[in-house]
Amino acid sequence: MGSSAVDDPRFVGYRRKLIEEIRARGVDDLEILQLFDRVPRHLFLPEGVWPRAYEDAPIPIGFGQTASQPSLQAHYLSILRPTTDDKVLEIGTGCGYLTALLCLMADRVYSVERVRDLSKRARRALDDLGVHNTALLVGDGTIGWRKYAPFDVIVVSAASPSVPAALVDQLGEGGRMLIPVGGRETQELVLVTKVEGEVQEEVIGGEVTFVPLLGRFAWKEE
Ligand code: SAH
Repeated sequence: MGSSAVDDPRFVGYRRKLIEEIRARGVDDLEILQLFDRVPRHLFLPEGVWPRAYEDAPIPIGFGQTASQPSLQAHYLSILRPTTDDKVLEIGTGCGYLTALLCLMADRVYSVERVRDLSKRARRALDDLGVHNTALLVGDGTIGWRKYAPFDVIVVSAASPSVPAALVDQLGEGGRMLIPVGGRETQELVLVTKVEGEVQEEVIGGEVTFVPLLGRFAWKEE
């Protein structure tokens, strides 16, 4: 990842503080913590919210969407542990920050976002940082991205009433998927794994709150 002219020494200190917060919330894997040092989160956010860019909080990114809380994303990464050889599918590119983190862990990251302008903005931020090992698609992620399936890792960053069948289908052998499942207000994180063709679902952790996954096999758009 190239260093960016638009990074600012102030932000380095804020990033360190964010990493301490993530650590305090239970992620102590150095490899993952270091990723948060390497990706300038503010560059993925609208300039108006830059002062809050390194808070461990969800941040509004426009279009009624939010960038997820960094410590939650760190938990995601520590559970999924994508490795270099893994092919990763992300549903809900949003601002592209998690995409960038994933791109540092895996060689190939495919990310689907339904809001065209968010996808475009994410592309720009990723390009600015020199992150090129990702393909972005504008479309409905509840049907996955069949062209590149099967995936070793699937990360869903929006809440679904159930686990979309297409995503389970596109999960490869030994694959693992994290998805928030539940109601519109709160959900629990579900880890889906596929071992010798057998699909297992396990609820992990407490209650979480994500924006809704809107699409054919999730919530219907209003
Ligand atoms: N990881 C992102 C999370 C963004 S919030 C970030 O940190 O910025 C979830 C995103 O999922 C939103 O941008 C929303 O537009 C998108 N989304 C909702 N339903 C979708 C669907 N069916 N397919 C693709 N993206 C979807």
